[in-house]
Amino acid sequence: MDTIRCPYCHEYVASTVYAKHEAEHTKLQPDGQQAEYVTLPSEERFDESLEGVPQVYRHNKCGTCTGMPEEIIRSYLKNPYLYLADRTFCCGCGKHVPWRECIWVDTGEDLQSYTDKLRVEKPELRPGIFTWMLIRFVNLFR
Ligand SMILES: [Zn+2]
Ligand SMILES: [Zn+2]
Repeated sequence: MDTIRCPYCHEYVASTVYAKHEAEHTKLQPDGQQAEYVTLPSEERFDESLEGVPQVYRHNKCGTCTGMPEEIIRSYLKNPYLYLADRTFCCGCGKHVPWRECIWVDTGEDLQSYTDKLRVEKPELRPGIFTWMLIRFVNLFR
């Protein structure tokens, strides 16, 4: 039987039921967040100190600050291509907003520029052009 390692809960799931399984994770909660977000398995995450790493961002449009969950920070520090949607959750708006509209409280840098820099440092992890285009395309309809 073919199995897929679920990028949300890291369990091995039969490929035939994976779509349904994944839908449970991405289902929006009453607060507007997904039930779970994609992360790297804990053994693959960045495991050094997060001192000096920005963790709280402010959404320009509403002025609300949101903390980035640690498991997500530790995942994108290892693979900055993991979150190709280029959006993050804003507690104030109760929805996902473009990185470009959010700035790190500590550094004043917007999340898009920040991630672009992380990506430049790891060109070997860059996904294939097809994956990239597909995600851009999906984003047009969000
Ligand atoms: Zn799962
Ligand atoms: Zn907002």
